[in-house]
Amino acid sequence: MSKLSVEEIKDRSRGLRGTIAETLTSEATHFTEEDYQLLKFHGTYQQDDRDLRVERKRAGLDKAWSFMVRSKIPGGDLTAAQYLMHDKMAEDLGNASMRITTREGFQMHGVLKGDLRECIARVKAAGLTTFGACGDVVRNTMGPSSPRATAAHRDALAISEELTEVFLPHSSGYFDLWIEGEKVDASAAEPEPEPIYGKHYLPRKFKIGLAVPPQNDVDIYTQDIGMYPHVVEDQVAGYSLVVGGGFGMSHGKTETFPRLADPLFYVHRKDVVAACVAIVEVQRDFGDRTDRKHARLKYTIEDRGIEWFREEVCRRLDAETAPVKEVTWDNVADDLGWHEQGDGQYFHGVFVPQGRVHDTEAGQFRTAFRRIAQELHLPSRLTSNTNILFYNIAEDQKPAFEAILEECAVPRSEAMTAARQTGHACVALPTCGLALSESERVFSGLMDEVDPVLRELGLEDEPLLIRMTGCPNGCARPYNADIAFVGR
Ligand code: SF4
Repeated sequence: MSKLSVEEIKDRSRGLRGTIAETLTSEATHFTEEDYQLLKFHGTYQQDDRDLRVERKRAGLDKAWSFMVRSKIPGGDLTAAQYLMHDKMAEDLGNASMRITTREGFQMHGVLKGDLRECIARVKAAGLTTFGACGDVVRNTMGPSSPRATAAHRDALAISEELTEVFLPHSSGYFDLWIEGEKVDASAAEPEPEPIYGKHYLPRKFKIGLAVPPQNDVDIYTQDIGMYPHVVEDQVAGYSLVVGGGFGMSHGKTETFPRLADPLFYVHRKDVVAACVAIVEVQRDFGDRTDRKHARLKYTIEDRGIEWFREEVCRRLDAETAPVKEVTWDNVADDLGWHEQGDGQYFHGVFVPQGRVHDTEAGQFRTAFRRIAQELHLPSRLTSNTNILFYNIAEDQKPAFEAILEECAVPRSEAMTAARQTGHACVALPTCGLALSESERVFSGLMDEVDPVLRELGLEDEPLLIRMTGCPNGCARPYNADIAFVGR
């Protein structure tokens, strides 16, 4: 039988169920290609340890299969309990590390097939979900990472939560497979309607991010929908929307390219969610389902034009629109170190090399963050630059916070060059199946060589943006960096 297209796999999946339930309880070491595609919607990628591929093949062994499980965390905002759940899960079911993603989520690597259910159920029990963290749906909605006590920052987080709710797939397949488990006969289930996505979901993944000027930490121009607020008398009056950004491309295929988003329109606050739904529906109906490399919103807009797109969205939207508001951005970095929140409390941003939360000779990041959540009960924000900010810190908690960082030898961002503070790299080898080169594992070494040069040139405070990816897909957003390394 010829290989099914992803569109055909979705069509036959009965609400994203496929034969996942059967494989979960079988002796099979891994899932079929069809279920592999469906698993993504449930927030997990089937992977193998690529460092071991050759050796295992020579020994006549199967690949070393495991799973990456990704939590959806709107705006990257975590309670202390939710943080601790991830930390414990990394120890119990993963490879004793967590990876902060460039979409403000957490990824757990090295989860075995037999532990998948437990892993996903724990995320759900903590009040989060993995459903829609990957797949052809709206992914984790990103918000400004700074927990500043302003109307704009509060509202951006509220919108990222509203959008997460609105765009959560409706299929009960997720609940049946991961929460109810073997109690439900998944093969007998009939899918329920998906009011926004329809039976075939979206042509490709879809990304939404909000930023509060002048800090464009989520890179709104690289999102399918980017947004920024317009504040009047300390109230958010509305949002300007930009559409059609995206960085994925393929080497040697000139018809694929990175693209920055175009201005769409301004809408009042009350109409923002409806505007996003209308945009997603246009992409659902007009996105290219014949070629996955040409299926993102950026190509729909590039091919048909932004005027056509605006008209098509407005036709479906019962709301007043206006041209986007003027905006000035002055940085894309995270607020590392100490900052006042504006409500008498503080937040502190900690630099995490390549977003990998683990204990190494370079610093006991995982121990430090666990202790901060356990002993000080502080909430946190995962950032799009793959760092972490702890917030709601009272004045009298600051010494204890500092002591934990000190005792765990967590490097202080104040001593780093600005380039190291803002640079980041994607995961790549050994877990990403698409990686053509190293990225996460070599980036710190690269910066060890770059830093002395910057210091010699007096550029240690220059926010030079250096990013690296292990393939042209652009997960670490390389194409708008000052210097980018893209694997090939
Ligand atoms: Fe994998 Fe490529 Fe994304 Fe890096 S950019 S994580 S190598 S898909």
